[in-house]
Amino acid sequence: MTLQTFEPQPTQSSMARRLQGRTALVTGSTSGIGLGVAKALAAEGADIVLNGLGLPSAIEATRATLADAHAVRVEHSAADLSDPGAVREMMTFARDKLGPVDILVNNAGIQFVSPVEEFPEAKWDAILAINLSSSFHAIKAALPDMKSRGWGRIINVASAHGLVASPFKSAYVAAKHGLVGLTKTVALEAATAGVTCNAICPGYVWTPLVEKQIEDQAHAHKISREAVINDVLLAAQPNKQFATVEQIGALVVFLCGNAGDCITGSALSVDGGWTAH
Ligand code: NAD
Repeated sequence: MTLQTFEPQPTQSSMARRLQGRTALVTGSTSGIGLGVAKALAAEGADIVLNGLGLPSAIEATRATLADAHAVRVEHSAADLSDPGAVREMMTFARDKLGPVDILVNNAGIQFVSPVEEFPEAKWDAILAINLSSSFHAIKAALPDMKSRGWGRIINVASAHGLVASPFKSAYVAAKHGLVGLTKTVALEAATAGVTCNAICPGYVWTPLVEKQIEDQAHAHKISREAVINDVLLAAQPNKQFATVEQIGALVVFLCGNAGDCITGSALSVDGGWTAH
């Protein structure tokens, strides 16, 4: 038996950026996971359309920093994704500013927690509209260009709650299960066109929102930070670790590379073993 030898790996600076020339639109990318995904795609050379809510001055600072740090073009659409017309306008805006969308990451999402018999109808409608229907409208608008160009990546950020349920999250669980179903259907319809469609299903991810929950719950229940993390937030996450936005960003980049050509219709768990239960 001979020893296998390995060529030295090229340094980052000597590697061509893998997504140079691609245009990526990431919904809900003014914070959290979406911003992490946008950074990861920009670092590989993709031009980026950000979307999401927030203070205009803070969003402009994010836009400019991302563009400068990675020498890519970055635009922002303030489209409110609860409005189908605004989703269509966002897709037209992206095409007009940066060209046809090659990579669509449907990430925007909101949450509301309540027993089903008390769940406010308006919250149900908003969660279904933002967490599920906006992805349908964006995919419908993006797919013709992807198919005609023979290449595309659609990545829907679902959740462990796209695969299993928890009490009091009826709208969120319904929307995320729906998003996984939409992912599979689009994957089948686009399978011969060079377009893949996958869902990423994170468990708990360390975001500013989660950090705030840790502080709030520790204060409210008069328990330690560690107790909130292990016994409350990560109770269902066997590895007792949060996923990071960088890990989600790296998975999106992987799916956008050649190694992702044959991965389609999948629901990829990043949940520390949660859905292995
Ligand atoms: P976040 O609150 O930090 O970010 C949500 C983004 O969506 C923001 O940019 C916000 O402005 C945008 N958004 C909200 N409503 C919008 C609307 N009507 N129109 C346009 N944009 C809107 O949340 P996050 O934790 O980064 O979550 C991102 C996605 O990941 C969501 O779909 C969420 O369900 C999913 N997810 C998060 C976790 C987690 O632990 N953080 C776990 C599993 C799945």
